[in-house]
Amino acid sequence: MKRSVIDGIGMTSARTRARLVARLRDMGIDDEAVLTVMLNTPRHLFIEEALASRAYEDNALPIGFGQTISQPYMVARMTAALLAGRSEKPARVLEVGTGSGYQCAVLAPLAGRVYSIERIERLAERARERLAALGLRNVRLKHGNGSLGWREHAPFEGIVITAASLAVPPALAEQVAVGGRLVAPIGPAGRQELMVMERKAIGFESRSLGGVAFVPLLEGLA
Ligand code: SAH
Repeated sequence: MKRSVIDGIGMTSARTRARLVARLRDMGIDDEAVLTVMLNTPRHLFIEEALASRAYEDNALPIGFGQTISQPYMVARMTAALLAGRSEKPARVLEVGTGSGYQCAVLAPLAGRVYSIERIERLAERARERLAALGLRNVRLKHGNGSLGWREHAPFEGIVITAASLAVPPALAEQVAVGGRLVAPIGPAGRQELMVMERKAIGFESRSLGGVAFVPLLEGLA
């Protein structure tokens, strides 16, 4: 991809992105590593060109197939919650719901390896192209049912689920390393909460970061 396309101009430029990051800071995001990665990640490349001028507004946007790229504030919040309390990069992080690939691109510099699963094949393909164009080589994508996790690469120090379910899928809970975290929107439509669950020697310690609205975690491939 051409440097000029990655860099963007006007509403897709680094300056516009810096304004978004300043806003995230005002909204209470204080993890400098996360803010730096978001400052450097061209979100405009993860959405359709027709919407690119809105890439650095703090909103979720449609990415086709009835799905959305998450709101930047939510990406920042989830990433910071996943990494909090660690002195070193987590070796392996799993994302369920690749979507556009943006959350994956934000995680890539902050983890040893990022694994991400998407159930809609066309979205998985597009995300793969984008992440390759940005030269992110520590990312592995799979078209599949993320509720089953990715057993060959487990356990994960971090798992982030970017689609909502009534409860954490059991296979995903099992694939969190002891001391690792799982961040996920849990609950029925209209009453989802962003949960942070830390795996202890026995069981999980959970807390809610408040109400959120995510697309549903679905079964079956598309
Ligand atoms: N992280 C994404 C947000 C995508 S929205 C981004 O940064 O753009 C949630 C995504 O989860 C959708 O693309 C949806 O297709 C996907 N999804 C829903 N159920 C899934 C499942 N069981 N396994 C994998 N992906 C799933």
